[in-house]
This record gives sequence, C-alpha cells and structure tokens, in this order.
Amino acid sequence: MSFSTLGLSDEIVRAVSDRGYTHPTPIQLQAIPAVLSGSDLLAGAQTGTGKTAGFTLPVLHRLSHQGVRSNSPGRSPIRSLILTPTRELAAQVEESVRDYGKYLNLTSLVVFGGVNITPQIRRLRSRVDILVATPGRLLDHVQQGTVDLSQVEILVLDEADRMLDMGFIRDIRRILSLLPKQRQNLLFSATFSSEIKAFAAGLLTRPVMIQVTSNEATPDAVTQRIYPVDRERKRALLAHLIKRNNWHQVLVFTRTKHGADRLVKQLSQDEIHAMAIHGNKSQAARTRALAKFKEGSLQVLVATDIAARGLDISDLPHVVNFELPNVPEDYVHRIGRTGRAGALGEAVSLVCVDEHKLLVGIEKLLQRSLPKEVIASFEPDPRVQPEPIQNGQQNRGRSSQSRMPSGRKTVGSDHSRPKSPSPRGRG
Ligand code: AMP
Repeated sequence: MSFSTLGLSDEIVRAVSDRGYTHPTPIQLQAIPAVLSGSDLLAGAQTGTGKTAGFTLPVLHRLSHQGVRSNSPGRSPIRSLILTPTRELAAQVEESVRDYGKYLNLTSLVVFGGVNITPQIRRLRSRVDILVATPGRLLDHVQQGTVDLSQVEILVLDEADRMLDMGFIRDIRRILSLLPKQRQNLLFSATFSSEIKAFAAGLLTRPVMIQVTSNEATPDAVTQRIYPVDRERKRALLAHLIKRNNWHQVLVFTRTKHGADRLVKQLSQDEIHAMAIHGNKSQAARTRALAKFKEGSLQVLVATDIAARGLDISDLPHVVNFELPNVPEDYVHRIGRTGRAGALGEAVSLVCVDEHKLLVGIEKLLQRSLPKEVIASFEPDPRVQPEPIQNGQQNRGRSSQSRMPSGRKTVGSDHSRPKSPSPRGRG
C-alpha cells in the first residue's frame, strides 16, 4: 500500500516521498482514510508510530480541497487547530505541517508560551490556515482578542492523555467552547484512562476508533529517542543531557577510536568524568575503565562497537549513540545493552544531517520509526548540508555553521522556540 492509494493528493504524496517515506505506517494506513472521509477519530497511538503524519496529511488534503467556509469575506480564518501538551511537540508538529504542506497553498503558525507574544500577535494578523498551539498560550491570545477560532473546521488533540495529566482540562474546555459546533474532531492518546474515555465520549461524534501497538524488534523496556542536532553541537548536547538528567553510568558509542578519545577530552572540559575503551588502549587500561564504570565511580564510558562487543556490560540505564553505527544491526546490539532483566533503559541517539541515511536503515531494520525530539537551544540549522561519512569518520574541522533562524516559508516556530530546555514546559 502506498500513500497515493490512500487518496492523498499528488502534492502531498510528493512531499512525503521527498522525506523518503514510501510506505504508510499502520496508524497512517488506518487514520488517513478515516480522516479523509470526514469522520471523527479516536486513535490510540504513541509517539514513534508516525501519528503526526497520520493526522497532518489528511488534514492538509481536506483543507486544500475544501473551499473556505468563512462568513466574513476577505478574512482568511484559522481552519484547523492542533493542540499539543508541550512546546517542543507543538514546534515539531508545525514543522511537519509545513514540510508535508510545502507544495500546497496553505499557511501554518505555531504559538506557545515562554516566548515573546508580540511576534505571534503580528503573525496572527495575516493568514493562518493551520494553527498549532499549546493551550495556555492560546488562551492568552483569546484573552487579548488576537485569535479567532470561530471558523475552525478540524480540531486535533495530540497526546490528549498528557494534556489531561498536565492539568490542561479546564483550558481545553474553554477552547472547545470557542469553536463552532460543527467540526471534525481527532483525538490522539497513548493511554485510555477513565478520564480520557469520558472526555472523548463528550467530544467525539460516532468516531472511527483505531489502536496501534508498536511493532518492536527491540525490547519493550528500552525507550528509544532520536535527538536531531547539528554535527558541531553534539558534544554540547551530550553534556547538556548528562547534566540536566543527572545521568550516571552512561555508555556512549562513537564510530571511531579517535572520536572516542576526543569526546573523553571534551567531556572532561565539561567536568564530566569519562574514559574510553577501544582497540588502541591496553588491556589493563580497558579493564580498569570497565571496573570503575561497573562500580559506579566512572560516569561515562565511551566505546567503539568493536571494543564494546566482547565486554560484559549490560543492564545499563543509559546508552547514547553519539554517532550512529554504519551497520544497522550494530544499533540493535548497542541498545540491547540497556533495559535488560526487566530494568527500564533508555537509548538515545544524537543524529546530525549526515546520518539521515543511516537512520533510515535502522528504522527499516526495526520496522518502525523512532521518536524524534528537538531539544530547545539545540535545534538543527536546516541550511546545513549533509557531508559524506568517510571511512567511518565524519569530516570535521570546518568552520561552524551560523545558528541564526532560517528564512523558511512560514514564520512562527523558528523565532519563538522555548528558552527552557524542559520537555514538559507548559504553553
Ligand atoms: P511520530 O510518531 O509522528 O512522532 O513519528 C515518528 C517518526 O516517524 C517521525 O520522525 C516521522 O518523520 C517518521 N515517520 C512518519 N511516517 C513515516 C513513514 N511512513 N515511514 C517512515 N518514517 C515515518
């Protein structure tokens, strides 16, 4: 089954194939036709299943094929409202909207709190077809009279369970009261507590119900996450993650011995205690590093695939792919070192633009796409061009890229990224 057979327009299919996606994921297979038919939708799906495209693609299709229903000629109303619990998710969703809608004549904007409201107000004065928002900041705009929700045709609640957990229920009810009665409602949630069921029952009319379970080749206990980042900023991001999350016993994989040594030096500059194990180290040095790591007195062990393979290190709380491996199977070996024996583990990968092909190979092997999260202040610069990965070693030493926001099609997210690195920062 391809995207075109699902009934999406050529422009949308083209944008999807530009991203390298050839086959819809299970959630997309079910959600896209349901949304295209105009039904309400209740979808049980987690991040990583491809749920964002599951609602974004058919919403774009419907809006581009339906004339504006505006009762006020001359004004272009907001036609779709997408609510998300966090600023990061809002920014990511709007980026997807923009990307998948790049061949369409539709505009989008993201608004969330923690940043200056004035540029958002200015932007809301011009045409916005699709508004992605966190509830708190959206209500600020409502209060200031800077947003008009009276013409919304499609409402999407993304990660609805998390929004309720975060205490947004009253905000959401207020927002719902500002929307026209006749509209299409799509609700996505990873879990279905009695609270979310009751909420969905009050919101949705004869919804199509779908539930996908993730199809993992890797242990369920391992949480996998991709952090997109520029190649020159990986080291700073790693230090940030270790410090922010107070990680201990972190096994970090690099592709090369030289890379491992360099990373150890750089982490030491950040006052993070790290040692490397690889083929150029003496056995004594390797044994010493490993013993310290196991007993918990060494915070970070940096290893190459080959050095790590023969070592008995497992049950780790954190595995970091500082660079993705050249061979997809090595990814599975690497992350298999965490989350064993019922323990919860976390495997994160710092992925720069050079590594997108490697990531595609890994996702193919796993038969699933991995959740991506952009960390505030580490947003990759979209203008950075991929460079070839040579002999397992990346080209380095070039002048670092400018980190100014890009001049992409629609303003909004680039200029108003949250300052707080908290992934749960409220809107
Ligand atoms: P989501 O669950 O929406 O957060 O998506 C998880 C990741 O899967 C995102 O990076 C998407 O870009 C990617 N993705 C979405 N649809 C597909 C697809 N059909 N094939 C491969 N990857 C996809």
